[in-house]
Amino acid sequence: MSQTNLIVAKFGGTSVADFDAMNRSADVVLTNRDVRLVVLSASAGVTNLLVTLAEGLEQQPRAYLLDEIRRIQYGIIDRLQQPDVIRDEIDRMLENITMLSEAAALATSTALTDELVSHGELMSSLLFVEILRERQVAAEWFDVRKVMRTSDRFGRAEPEIAILAELTTTQLKPRLQDAIIITQGFIGSEGKGRTTTLGRGGSDYTAALLGEALHAKQIDIWTDVPGIYTTDPRVVASAHRIDEITFEEAAEMATFGAKVLHPATLLPAVRSDIPVFVGSSKDPSAGGTLVCNKTQNPPLFRALALRRKQTLLTLHSLNMLHARGFLAEVFNILARHNISVDLITTSEVSVALTLDTTGSTSTGDSLLTQALLTELSSLCRVEVEENLALVALIGNKLSQACGVGKEVFGVLEPFNLRLICYGASSYNLCFLVPGNDAEQVVRALHHNLFE
Ligand code: ADP
Ligand code: ASP
Ligand code: MG
Repeated sequence: MSQTNLIVAKFGGTSVADFDAMNRSADVVLTNRDVRLVVLSASAGVTNLLVTLAEGLEQQPRAYLLDEIRRIQYGIIDRLQQPDVIRDEIDRMLENITMLSEAAALATSTALTDELVSHGELMSSLLFVEILRERQVAAEWFDVRKVMRTSDRFGRAEPEIAILAELTTTQLKPRLQDAIIITQGFIGSEGKGRTTTLGRGGSDYTAALLGEALHAKQIDIWTDVPGIYTTDPRVVASAHRIDEITFEEAAEMATFGAKVLHPATLLPAVRSDIPVFVGSSKDPSAGGTLVCNKTQNPPLFRALALRRKQTLLTLHSLNMLHARGFLAEVFNILARHNISVDLITTSEVSVALTLDTTGSTSTGDSLLTQALLTELSSLCRVEVEENLALVALIGNKLSQACGVGKEVFGVLEPFNLRLICYGASSYNLCFLVPGNDAEQVVRALHHNLFE
């Protein structure tokens, strides 16, 4: 099917944090007539509060968190010209949250958690519709769960692309003619209609999935930084914006920890060749980054990404004589526990690996369960090292170039490199360092390779 003129615009938590932020985002929506679908995150802080409520708290802390959520949402309602229109609906949502958090205090479950945390996006999108309507803009609220069909893996649900495409075409597409549609990121529903979530930061992914289903010409991700930088500008103040970057490079960055994009965001974009723009809703005139298929002269070194809180497992075979098949058994066990391996190095009778935490669950549960450890321990001796950080150097044709090792590791002389992965992908060189050294390592490398 041919491409449309449609742009899907997604606004993250800080872009809908309060009344002023929502109005700045509304300005951004209205400056481009092609923006017909708007995907929103919960107001900043709300998802964290809801996740904590889902853990099942005592009455007192529960009341405190509920007040906090009410305060954030009422901060917006109270500044509307006609707050009455929406107050009841938000009150109903707040009552639901109260009820669900009481249920969580009796017994928690992943399904209950998803139902509870979905209210953040439900509320922010309702409020944003009112912000637009007060400007006389035809805007309609749309419950994304009608089209965002997912698996029932609560907390980290996988979209069912074919059903999602069909539902989007029949239920959502016709509505785009008459009004700007405002919907929720992050949430979906499984076959029986129960609410699911796509994992923390999942609203970017929602925008890309809907963009793909609607054959959009572009997906705009509006956040609190004017683009994708050479590394997290919060870690390195001298990081600079990358004006154009390829899908592959940006996907590597997102996978290895650049929070600016959810790791899965670029999958639909690459599949359907839809450019993704990243910019700041606080400062739209500052421009941003275009993620697309091809760029001029892709550089050898593109960016640095950092992923904290990595766990390294070192597995030593118990039986050196029968080491054959050892890796196969290790992978089998990990697969049964639904875990994919991230970094890996091997020797004949041992293997060191990190667990893939990309797209972590909405609840932030650890992948390293007691059941997994017990099963691995029956096969091998298991060593667990916590508090490591993964640093990824992203680039192009890295494995074909000469001198990369010297240039990178020369700078890192004062640091302990716990594990190095290089050569499987020509786009990255990754290594683990002690968590406490991570920022220093990134700064030293950035200084040497990018400044
Ligand atoms: P949103 O709520 O809009 O989705 P996020 O907090 O998820 O925003 O992502 C934006 C943040 O990503 C920035 O504030 C920045 O600190 C962080 N970040 C990490 N790596 C990068 C990078 N390479 N370029 C830009 N921002 C990055
Ligand atoms: N509100 C969700 C979160 O905080 C999803 C998102 O913002 O992308 O993780
Ligand atoms: Mg985000």
